[in-house]
Amino acid sequence: MQKILTSSFYKYVEIKEPEKFQTKHLAYCKRLGVKGKIHLAEEGINGTISGNETQIDKYEKDLIKNKLFKNIQFKRTLADKLPFRKTIVRLRKEIVSSGLDVNLKNKGKYITPKELKKALDKKEDLILLDARNDYESFVGKFKNAITPKIKTFKEFKKVPKLISRFKNTKIVTYCTGGIRCEKASAYLKENGFKNIFQLEGGILSYINQFPDTYFEGLCFVFDDRLTIPTGSNVKEITYCMHCKTPSGRYINCKNISCDEMFICCEKCDLNFKHKCRDCI
Ligand SMILES: [Zn+2]
Ligand SMILES: [Zn+2]
Repeated sequence: MQKILTSSFYKYVEIKEPEKFQTKHLAYCKRLGVKGKIHLAEEGINGTISGNETQIDKYEKDLIKNKLFKNIQFKRTLADKLPFRKTIVRLRKEIVSSGLDVNLKNKGKYITPKELKKALDKKEDLILLDARNDYESFVGKFKNAITPKIKTFKEFKKVPKLISRFKNTKIVTYCTGGIRCEKASAYLKENGFKNIFQLEGGILSYINQFPDTYFEGLCFVFDDRLTIPTGSNVKEITYCMHCKTPSGRYINCKNISCDEMFICCEKCDLNFKHKCRDCI
């Protein structure tokens, strides 16, 4: 069996007439047979696609042929089966909904996974700030990171106040693939934080290069897998809601009026018919 890969990418770059690009790109993806989700806006592109190795190689090669995207960075992950069922190319106002009115020129400096690993090895005085939502950091995060309790990225507005005592401390923000940190880091700087860095390529780049080091638990992803391993020797940091054994397996409660996302081991998933503790 040929292995299944995903490739995630983004770039803030002015796209003129994104609707024209959308039509062509959707037809192209369908022809190539890749599945996934791509958001386009006048401010850029953000997407994850999946397919076999040949398809992903071709997609990446074709995308960087377009001058607009020539320096785009791809982050690959492995999957057991196609984690997307459809091909969606959508037009949006923002390529990640943030509602943050920032100037991207103020974004934090990049720190590479290698530089971050070195700084952590040396126990440098820095703070890791998770720019993701609470249900993402719940199943996995950098050790000792600050994980704000936000439900969507739009709530990131609350974060400067929560961490105001760190205005002069070195802060490294991180998210899944890096895109949220572009605006989050700029927002922090515009709110008086002096020493802001952002992890280049996010968790995905970091765990590709340094699995089983400073990232604990699983990495949440926005596709059918919900979480992916962050090394070959990963310990879950969460527990099954029913039987309390370690598990990082998210499911949505089958009770439609509940639909709560919760941690459930495979055994309890069957035993309790895909329902959460409040609904059994
Ligand atoms: Zn269980
Ligand atoms: Zn429920």
